[in-house]
Amino acid sequence: MCVFKLVQQDSFQTKNETQTRIGGLRVLFDKDGTIRIKTKLLNREDTELFRLPILLPKNHVIVDQFVREVHQKHNHAGIQTTMGILREEIWILQTRRKVKEIVHKCVTCRRFTAQSYDILSAPLPNNRTKNAKTFQTTGVDLAGPERWNKSLDCAFHFSSLPWSAFGA
Ligand SMILES: [Zn+2]
Repeated sequence: MCVFKLVQQDSFQTKNETQTRIGGLRVLFDKDGTIRIKTKLLNREDTELFRLPILLPKNHVIVDQFVREVHQKHNHAGIQTTMGILREEIWILQTRRKVKEIVHKCVTCRRFTAQSYDILSAPLPNNRTKNAKTFQTTGVDLAGPERWNKSLDCAFHFSSLPWSAFGA
């Protein structure tokens, strides 16, 4: 919490501790001089941090790091979930914008949400699409070192044959 107080001193130019509004929000100073938001949940039986969350600016490296840590600690939670977790302790000005920015920059999330390239497959050759008897046209798809048997003139394409061709 001491770090948050330093962030506040770095970001907010408060005239004195009698100031009641910052960024349009009702605030109060606790006994340590930390700026807290006066929420409507003052009478709720809950932790002090939940009832009076600590006010933080949107543009500060410590805030970015804290949001990133919460996002990663909770298994790369989405924007709404990360906002909810943050709200239990702190109140960041323009929270949604800040969380959205951090989540969109997360390399792990981008890697798992990226769309794969849509590769168009080439049309099949004519001898694999025409009507034919079993084994009239055959071939083998090979991977790895290959040794050609000179007596075979054709390539076998087992992948193009139906399983019924093998008695399955
Ligand atoms: Zn992530």
